[in-house]
Amino acid sequence: MKIGILGDIHANIEALDAVLQSFQKSGVDRVLAVGDLVGYGADPSAVIHRIQSDRIVSVLGNHDAAVVGILVDLAYFNIYARSAALWTRKVLSEPELAYLRSLPLIHREPEFVVVHGSLDQPEEFNYIQTQRDAEQSLHFMEAPCRVCFVGHSHIPLGFLSNRAEPNRIEFTFASRIELAGFDRCLINVGSVGQPRDEDPRPVAAIYDTTNNVVMLQRVAYDFDRAAGKILAAGLPRVLAERLRFGV
Ligand code: ZN
Repeated sequence: MKIGILGDIHANIEALDAVLQSFQKSGVDRVLAVGDLVGYGADPSAVIHRIQSDRIVSVLGNHDAAVVGILVDLAYFNIYARSAALWTRKVLSEPELAYLRSLPLIHREPEFVVVHGSLDQPEEFNYIQTQRDAEQSLHFMEAPCRVCFVGHSHIPLGFLSNRAEPNRIEFTFASRIELAGFDRCLINVGSVGQPRDEDPRPVAAIYDTTNNVVMLQRVAYDFDRAAGKILAAGLPRVLAERLRFGV
């Protein structure tokens, strides 16, 4: 089975559709999302509708929470994120807002788990950037769960570990991550709608459960179109410009 995991879409429908098309070409059977469906971009409604119509299971991201006024205090957002969140709150319909409000913090399946920030304190939306950060989440993965998919930092990377040696955690920025030999792994799937690793192309993960491999795939998309819509909506210019550089 091939499972597509994507996230940090940030209301970028052009990027989302490019990733979903590449999933289809790769023979992905089902798709899940690590949250931050909205915020920053100009197409929050279109993204929510695509997630719903494609029956993509998503967890709650901090920007989704901020838009509906739960868990996250907008005072802690920078000025661009805050103005985008307030704009998004204004343009979404009540059913769309209700959908965001309904998203769970964690989605668990027998062999993997999906969360936006960290597994130990999902409601705090912590960043996992170091092995030490990863250790906190890995600790909360009980067998047979072997992979935790996260987003939030917009930087794709993997932490690989074993229950037998919990203090030994390897990390990798490779685009192909072999899980064989590891029974506790944490994969950040990167960002669809606002990549920040100096590559403007959307990135998402394909978890091949048969071959025990996670591929972090990049796809091309029309970022000028997405950026143009951000400017036309009157959102901060920097949110359009950063799409061109992947920062
Ligand atoms: Zn995000």
